[in-house]
Formats: sequence, C-alpha cells, structure tokens
Amino acid sequence: MKVAYVKTMLFVLLCVLVFSFGSAVTLAYSLSGIKWAGTSVSYRINSAFAASFRTAMQAADAAWDAAGSKFRFNYVGTTTRNPNVFSYSTDGYSDIGYFNAGNNGIIAATLGGVTGSTITERDTTLNIYYGFTTVGALGSYDVQNIVTHEYGHWLKLLDVTSGLGPSWCSFSWESTMCAYASPNETNKRSLEGDDKNGIKAIYGV
Ligand SMILES: [Zn+2]
Repeated sequence: MKVAYVKTMLFVLLCVLVFSFGSAVTLAYSLSGIKWAGTSVSYRINSAFAASFRTAMQAADAAWDAAGSKFRFNYVGTTTRNPNVFSYSTDGYSDIGYFNAGNNGIIAATLGGVTGSTITERDTTLNIYYGFTTVGALGSYDVQNIVTHEYGHWLKLLDVTSGLGPSWCSFSWESTMCAYASPNETNKRSLEGDDKNGIKAIYGV
C-alpha cells in the first residue's frame, strides 16, 4: 500500500502587508480532491503542551465544528506521541506535537497519510523555534490562530494565496486558510465565508 505525503506549510510573514484592490478572484478557497472517508476525526494532543495550549487547540477545532458542515473534530485526550512532520513517518494516529526545526520560516506544518484520495491520518507539528502564546505575549504566535489554520489542512483545505507575487493573501488576509501569519495575529481564529464554503464543499452540510 503506497502512502503519499502531502506537505502543507504556514510561513512566517516577513515583509509588510501588500494590499490589492480590484483583483479578479472568484474562488477564495482551494480544494485538493482528497478527503476523510467519514465526517469526523479523533485526535490527541501531546501531553507536554500546557493546559492553556491544549484548550486553545480545542477552541481551534470548535471553530471548524461550527462551520456548518457535517465534519467534526473529536478531541480524545493527551498522548506521549509527538509527531514531527519535519522528519515524518505515519503511525496511524492523528496528533499534535512539537519540534524545534530552527529558523526555517515555517511556524507549523501538517502532514498525513493518504491512500488514493482518502485521508488516513493527519499530524500537526508546531515549530517551537518560534514563540507561541495564548495570552498575547509580544512577538509570539497565537496558538489558536495557528492551529485553526492547520486544522483546515486536516480537512484538506489548501493554503490560500493570491496572485500578487510572491504570494500574498491580499484579498483574503482575514481568511483562516491564508498561508501567512504574523506574531500576535488572531485573524485566523474565526473562519471567514470562504473557509466555511470550503469545508462545506468537501464534507457537505
Ligand atoms: Zn497552511
């Protein structure tokens, strides 16, 4: 059985935000054609994360649960498993872990097993080279903000970028699936219309 790894990344925003007006974009979410066989996923969070971080991650899953689609995230507790998508292998479990991957521009990343067009597993790793916070610590990344984006990848929504080179989310900076985040940003905590349309398009309403 061949397992394909589909890599999705969230990059650090390094430059000033570029605004675009009047761009002709008709679809603000991106689908991959790959999906879970059912309409739920059970997942665990590494037990080394502080309780406040685990709570923020569950708040992130609640946003998707309330998006109007049939899909549900089911948090089932902590685990000592620590998936590292920067050096990845599948194990049949969907978990959130951490790793110090250095200053590589990737705040967090999601990978998983796919058989044919069916998702079998999703894992997210926070790159703890960068600071994460649940209380707005200056210069750190908001856990709920980042994980809400990564959960979109669990559903197999793709990063949204715009046509302005290199690739800015100029038309959808508020969108959860915008591929760029900046420290202390919380725009991605709340789903926008294009995010909701994306999950509904994949899993039905
Ligand atoms: Zn992404």
